[in-house]
Amino acid sequence: MAASRSEEGATMAKEEAAAAVEEGRARGRRSGVEVLVSQDTSDPPPQCPHGPTLLFVKVNQGKEEARRFYACSACRDRKDCNFFQWEDEKLSEARLAAREIYNRRCQPPLSHKQYIERYWKFIELPLSQRKFCRRCQQLLLPDDWGKHCDHQVLCDISIAQLKRPSQLLYPLENKKTNAQYLFTDRSCQFLLDLISTLGFRKVLCVGTPRLHELIRLKASGDKESDVKSLLLDIDFRYSQFYTEESFCHYNMFNHYFFDGKAALEICRKFLKEDKGVELILVTDPPFGGLVESLAVTFRKFMDMWKEEQSTDNNSKELPLFWIFPYFFESRILQFFPNFSMLDYQVDYDNHALYKHGKTGRKQSPVRIFTNIPPNKIILPAEEGYRFCTVCQRYVSLENQHCEICNSCTSKDGRRWKHCLRCKKCVKPSWIHCSICNYCALPNHSCAGAKDVCFICGEADHKRTMCPNFSTSKRANKAVRKQKQKKSNKMKMETTKGQSMNHATVARKKKKKKREHQYPCS
Ligand code: SAH
Ligand code: ZN
Ligand code: ZN
Ligand code: ZN
Ligand code: ZN
Repeated sequence: MAASRSEEGATMAKEEAAAAVEEGRARGRRSGVEVLVSQDTSDPPPQCPHGPTLLFVKVNQGKEEARRFYACSACRDRKDCNFFQWEDEKLSEARLAAREIYNRRCQPPLSHKQYIERYWKFIELPLSQRKFCRRCQQLLLPDDWGKHCDHQVLCDISIAQLKRPSQLLYPLENKKTNAQYLFTDRSCQFLLDLISTLGFRKVLCVGTPRLHELIRLKASGDKESDVKSLLLDIDFRYSQFYTEESFCHYNMFNHYFFDGKAALEICRKFLKEDKGVELILVTDPPFGGLVESLAVTFRKFMDMWKEEQSTDNNSKELPLFWIFPYFFESRILQFFPNFSMLDYQVDYDNHALYKHGKTGRKQSPVRIFTNIPPNKIILPAEEGYRFCTVCQRYVSLENQHCEICNSCTSKDGRRWKHCLRCKKCVKPSWIHCSICNYCALPNHSCAGAKDVCFICGEADHKRTMCPNFSTSKRANKAVRKQKQKKSNKMKMETTKGQSMNHATVARKKKKKKREHQYPCS
């Protein structure tokens, strides 16, 4: 997965941009984005192939448009799921029926039960007959061979390989749907060790197939000390390897179990109190996902867990690890104020950027958010983490305790510096801007200059909405000139070592927004 440097940079910028949109949303500075509407309507939402859809509203210049619409909860790209319906739209019986047929047609070709029957047959076969089709991502039985003869087929699939499906299957990297980034052995082992050290014996893995796999690999058969795991994931390919007791085909953006009540009951049973057997939920959702709908889902698990606890556990909360980039911290804390962010850097095998130490180009921005008191969580000293007695938590090597903030303030693992005027610590590359009156990158565009119309310079509209806007050459020339002037200015201000300036990121953000727009009918 050797992504080019520029691709990596763009990915990073996009993710930071997504966080910026999220943050903008939180602060009410929003434009052109679609936001989730808390589903307070009594009507059940219409369903797409990924379960109940979510209600959105488009926001322009800080104002919500009047007409709301339903769209897919799981796919942020219309190419992956093109469901669209206005909230007040009435569909004919015929269209509803067609939709239902379509939704059914999009489901996996076999039921989970059928996949498992095939699995039992598969392991009965002699090694020489155990084949896996790489193109179709499917275990083959002898009857299937003909259909896959001109596909790339792996032979001699061993039991050891069957126990590591995350290595047999290719990761679904589509950023706007699955965003499947698998933990490195280092991170996965760390998580499992931490879970065991904290005394947990059951793990509800929500979108963490590799952790689920490691837990099962480590299970020795000794009932007392073994950790049990249930995987919930939207990637149904795992149905081929795990029984209904250990895997549910599940959508975490709408808390939807594709196999209905039976699967929900398996999950509920797993959450049920088991005297002396503590449970933790570990989740690593796609980073582009809507934080709010994820928070709603995790809250549902917390409630479900609570229902299954005896009354003397009333004050307790379901322990949770939510793995997500540090720049979503404020957003996550909005929903879970009692959570804290740990300094541990989680990294991934198939993500060139998010690698730990020397192999990656940058330090991973991915962290663990948790409701477990951070002083209980020991981070590995051999990787440089150390305990800050004032903060009562483990911090990364470069994270210095700031005497003024009275806290270890670095979020990204680099050493941050305190700005007396901002009254807080900031990234090492930032400087205090006297125009904006806060710290920012040296080449940022100053407040006010950011969102003005390119044609007339007014701040309350964009170029295309400008009363002076015309398609004439003159207007276009003015725009080009303005941009040129801006970019010259930018070049002059750009400091060495900055791979992407503010303007590029802003343009990318705009492009991204356009890609996200839904048609109007
Ligand atoms: N680091 C983890 C994988 C995280 S990648 C590990 O190594 O175990 C995100 C995971 O969430 C993927 O497995 C992906 O299939 C799953 N996922 C993506 N969208 C989802 C959704 N809407 N509902 C449930 N799972 C989803
Ligand atoms: Zn969908
Ligand atoms: Zn400290
Ligand atoms: Zn400080
Ligand atoms: Zn400052």
